[in-house]
Parts: sequence; structure tokens; C-alpha cells
Amino acid sequence: MSTQTKFLLDESKLPRRWYNIAADLPVPLAPPLHPGTLQPLGPDDLAPLFPMELILQEVSTEREIEIPEPIREVFRLWRPSPLVRAHRLEKALGTPAKIYYKYEGVSPAGSHKPNTAIPQAWYNAQAGIRKLTTETGAGQWGSSLAFAGALFGIDVTVFQVRVSYDQKPYRRALMETYGAKCIASPSNLTASGRAILEKDPNHPGSLGIAISEAVEVAATNDDTKYSLGSVLNHVLMHQSIIGLEAMLQFEMAGDDPDVIIGCTGGGSNFAGLAFPFIGQQLRGGRKRRIVAVEPSACPSLTRGKFAYDFGDTAHLTPLTKMHTLGSTFTPPGFHAGGLRYHGMAPMVSHLKELGLIEATAYPQTACFEAGVLFARSEGIVPAPEANHAVKSAIVEALRCKAEGRSEVIVFNLSGHGHFDMSAYSSYFGGQLVDQGYDEKELAMALAGLPSVPA
Ligand SMILES: *Cc1c(COP(=O)(O)O)cnc(C)c1O
Repeated sequence: MSTQTKFLLDESKLPRRWYNIAADLPVPLAPPLHPGTLQPLGPDDLAPLFPMELILQEVSTEREIEIPEPIREVFRLWRPSPLVRAHRLEKALGTPAKIYYKYEGVSPAGSHKPNTAIPQAWYNAQAGIRKLTTETGAGQWGSSLAFAGALFGIDVTVFQVRVSYDQKPYRRALMETYGAKCIASPSNLTASGRAILEKDPNHPGSLGIAISEAVEVAATNDDTKYSLGSVLNHVLMHQSIIGLEAMLQFEMAGDDPDVIIGCTGGGSNFAGLAFPFIGQQLRGGRKRRIVAVEPSACPSLTRGKFAYDFGDTAHLTPLTKMHTLGSTFTPPGFHAGGLRYHGMAPMVSHLKELGLIEATAYPQTACFEAGVLFARSEGIVPAPEANHAVKSAIVEALRCKAEGRSEVIVFNLSGHGHFDMSAYSSYFGGQLVDQGYDEKELAMALAGLPSVPA
């Protein structure tokens, strides 16, 4: 039995190409629709928001896309991220299962998000863009794009969801350290923000609203483009570097995962780890269980409707077919801010509909309990988002114990929780509650889904 704990890779072995699952789909993705005409979108429709190279990646069906050398050079600052065998967690659970985690918290911003922030900033810089707007929930994406902007000389403006802006002042300080400007959303700076504030001056904000504000600024300023931290096909493709590395690291470990787990907000870290493995299966390889984990308070994959919907609250973005709680739905202000999104990546939703992945949901206190056990066994304090994956891995490991099976489980530890310690304090102080969402509001948001001709 191997007692090795940590698996890294030679720089010479680091992936040189991203993996694009669109090449291996048995059924193609439903096309995104123009918000005005409800007709399928053309590449030019996205040109006000994104540089052409990223638009071409968004619609590409090439299986592999070269990672440009300047991007790989930045990645070498922290990649490969380690694949770690959680021996001590296994022992604490008394499970015959082998638990591995891929640790993305080693990036400068503390999560997987720089894996796409770096390429997005670089392609924008190549296209001569000097200003980017974006939104951030927990602050992870904002810090990642701020970091990337600093490397490539781009001014970054971040609309941060109000509740996390108030809860996480140090995330804002980090964004400012990298040179970005941070604005609490909803704000007075945009028509979308003002419309929300008029109805409710104390609105806690949501990712859907922050996206509207960032998109509005990019769409109304010729010199400014927009950058999204999750959901889109090209973002998921950039994250595939996680799974591509993990495959090589599992070869070194002499193991092969039976269960692959990731938490899902917009779906990017989950897809990053899982899609290369799913691709192998779609090309005739072995079938594994792939589990997406979301918060019970914002359960788009497990409780949402698979339908065309807007990506934002003010309906400025294209419509995509996805699992959605309705674009007007405001999830309760729980602590995993990065998972408070009404929709899901269309590609993740599509795979769910095709039966290629499973989805499950847990309330936040159970997730914090799992995260604390993980920290006390493995030393790393997970981000509240990542606690959802930890919880699911523990559930699977305990199932293996009950069934006497020694399956191999891997989960994506998408980030560390060093900026989320106030959430841990609330948990230890017994103030963390499992908020349900408002069923009436959900029903209303779903009833308000746009009707799209079949
Ligand atoms: C943003 C974030 C998530 C959720 O986003 P996905 O696109 O679903 O990955 C999960 N974990 C961490 C640490 C994050 O920062």
C-alpha cells in the first residue's frame, strides 16, 4: 500500500492544451439566444463584451486548444496544484475508501479562479483592451481578476455583492492591493443598480444583480470589456487544467478515481476537475460517478428548472438553457457567497440532463462541520464553498465504510478559507443557521421565466 501523500508533476509534464468537452458531446448544447430577438446568438453579438479569441473559444468544438506560452509561464507560479491523499481524514472516518483532494488554494488568490482570470486578462490585453469590469460574490473571482489585471496592465473594476462586501472587508483590501477598484452592488453607478435600490435601499445584492451592473458598464463603454468567472464554456475549458493534471497525478499514485466530486456555484471548478474524466468516458473509457454539490439554500441543479433563462437580473445577458431558480430569485445571504447564483453553467446542466453527472445539496452547518473535521485532520481550512465538496466526500467515504468498499474518491478543494474566518466564528458561536429559501419567491421567479419558442 502506498503511503505517499502528495503528488506533483515536473514542469515539463504540465498540460500544454486545454480540454474542450464540446468535442465529445453525444448531443450538442442548445444555442444561447439573443436577449432582444430570442434568436440564436452569433459571435458578433458578444463582441461588445468579449475579445474575439475568447468568443471563438466559447463556440469552439475543437477537442484541444493550445495554452499560449505567456499564460503557461504565469501558471508555473503555482501549478501544478498538488493532488493529496487525505490519509488522516480517512483514519478519522475509519473508512476503507481512499480519499484524495486536488488543492486549488495554492494559487496567489487562494482558489481555482486564477486558472481562467489569467487567460481572460491575457487575451483581452492581446486585443488591446485596458479596462475590464466584473462581478464577485465572495470576493474570490474579484481578487483573481485583480491579480491577473495587475500582471497584464489592465484596470479592473469589481462589483461585489453587498452582503459579502460587508462581511469580507479583507477580500476588498486584497483586490485593492492588486490595484482593482471595488464597488458594493447594487450601486448607484448603473441603471440596473439604481432600479434595485429604488425598490429596496438595503438590498443584500446577488450575483445576478452584480453581473447586470458589470455588463452594463462594459456594454455602454467602448474601451471596456467584461469578464465572467464561471458559467461560460470558455471558463470551464480554462479550468480543465485541474482535471488534466489530476489524471497525470493519479497515474503517479497508481490509482484511478471511482467518484469525482466538486462544489457547484456556476460550475467551473467542478467542471475543471470532472470534464477531462467525463471526456475519457465519452470516448469509450470507463464510467465513473461524478457528483456536483450545491447549497440547499440555492439549489439550482437539484431544485431548479431546466429552461432558457437570463444570466443576470436586469436581463442584459443572452439567454442560455440551464438549471435555474429564475433570474429574479435572490438566494438568502448564507456564507458560501461563491455558490449564491440562480443559474448553472449550461454545459454542466446539459450533462446533468444527459445523465452523465449526479447532483446533491447540503445545508451550510453540515458543510462547516465537515470543513472543521477536514481542517483538524489535514490542516487546511477550506473555503465555505469547498466545504460542500468536503461534506460530499465524507458522505461517500462513510457509505464505503458501511458497504465495506475501498473506492477511490477525489474532490476538488477549490480554495482556502483564510478570508472567511468570520463565517467560521459564526459557526463556532452557534450563530450559523440553515436558512431555507423563500418558496413563494422561488415559485414567482420560476413563473417569470422567459417564454421561448421551441
Ligand atoms: C467561486 C468559487 C466557487 C464556485 O464557483 P464555481 O464556478 O462553481 O467553481 C467554489 N469554490 C471557491 C473557492 C470559489 O472561489
